Amino acid sequence: MTNSIYIDKIQGEENLSTNLTQTFHISTYGCQMNEEDSEKISGMLKRIGYSNTEIKEDADIIIFNTCCVRENAENKVFGNLGQLKKLKEERPNLIIAICGCMMQQKGMADKVLKTFPFVDIIFGTHNSYKFPEYLDRVQKDGVQVKEIVNKEDGIVEGLPIDRKSDVKAFVTIMYGCNNFCTYCVVPYVRGRERSRKPEDIVKEVEELISQGYKEITVLGQNVNSYGKDLNDGMSFAKLLRTLNEVKGLERIRFMSSHPKDLTDDVILAIKECDKVCEQVHLPVQSGSSAILKSMNRHYTREQYIELAKKIKAEIPEVSITTDIIVGFPGETDEDFEYTLELVKEVEYDSAFTFIYSRRNHTPADRMENQIPEEIKHERFNRLVKTLNEIVERKNKAYENKTVEVFVEGTSKNQESRLTGRTRNGRLVNFEGSKDSIGKLINVNITKAGSFSLTGEECK
Ligand code: SAH
Ligand code: SF4
Repeated sequence: MTNSIYIDKIQGEENLSTNLTQTFHISTYGCQMNEEDSEKISGMLKRIGYSNTEIKEDADIIIFNTCCVRENAENKVFGNLGQLKKLKEERPNLIIAICGCMMQQKGMADKVLKTFPFVDIIFGTHNSYKFPEYLDRVQKDGVQVKEIVNKEDGIVEGLPIDRKSDVKAFVTIMYGCNNFCTYCVVPYVRGRERSRKPEDIVKEVEELISQGYKEITVLGQNVNSYGKDLNDGMSFAKLLRTLNEVKGLERIRFMSSHPKDLTDDVILAIKECDKVCEQVHLPVQSGSSAILKSMNRHYTREQYIELAKKIKAEIPEVSITTDIIVGFPGETDEDFEYTLELVKEVEYDSAFTFIYSRRNHTPADRMENQIPEEIKHERFNRLVKTLNEIVERKNKAYENKTVEVFVEGTSKNQESRLTGRTRNGRLVNFEGSKDSIGKLINVNITKAGSFSLTGEECK
């Protein structure tokens, strides 16, 4: 069990008056975990008196929270950092900080410092809670701070979180990953699995409810292994049942589920808990058993299909969504056909599709038979086309049906247009009043596309 560190004071909190006009801007790359880390960095900065600005060029502190899961995420960060050189020359007091997964990679922090010597603060994924301390050092002593630790001190509890939404929230239930899929950097940059104590999770959820939140998405690289390291019989299924009892909570979502660990007790918990939404994000990665073996995924094509069938049979109206990688080393035309066939058989409700990206220090990077770019792209396009047809057909089945929608907010460019989701995760757009935000309402679906449904509120 990893010990927990309870934070009750943020460095700088006592000198509030000095910072009040200062602003910060955070650019976040990558997954929800990074989004959540950024919400904590933002929460700490607000606690010590800074305010957020949407305009990067105006900010007194610019932070890049980076991702390294695929190469293009890294390239974006390099491009954006380069653009800050001029700004830093014009405004030497500007503080530039860079953090997140990319910084945890061997040699990366030094590479960044060499290429962009004007960066003031570099830190990794395990010590982001110390950001206010680093900021203080830069401001008081005028030094450059680089602090990357390879192991977390413990699970940090109690940080203020500045959430993007007022009605739905992400709640991380575990950190790290033990799976070492051969293409993936996550276990190297996020460390081993550590589960938060159930009482700390429940406390956070109860606080959210008291602030008016109604929906939570619990996060982990593989939520199905939640609790294994607590050694007290706690499991993900039990956690779902515990959260289902929290008064005032309307909906519970979760991601991601590794297929090798999705057990019957979790399926039963989804089925029996009224607040747990009927949506399972079940990354398949490939439809070929040979490729799955080479990816170190620990299931076969047949086992996956069997599992998907069981989920559908047990949970009415369930959505199954997935992640798929094309062009993994050694993937033959036949392997790729297996993926297309599996996609048709499982009939996904939506999917994230990725072109395999070589990552330093991962086993797949050292494999022979890397797939040429043009073949990867051609397969990617075929996969997306197949998926879109299925998703659109499944969405069409919702036309003229009434669905329960949790209203999340207004559309970006049209105030009178509301957006929300069905229990099984479909995005719904409809006209309505802002008063509905944060409420469950019935919507009649009038039109379906491949990304969203359009409807009218039932009066
Ligand atoms: N822990 C989660 C997801 C982690 S990363 C899970 O296992 O489901 C999110 C997705 O990025 C993965 O599911 C995978 O499809 C994709 N991904 C990870 N590494 C990749 C790589 N090197 N190239 C392309 N896609 C990758
Ligand atoms: Fe990466 Fe696999 Fe862990 Fe997901 S389960 S984070 S894909 S190593």
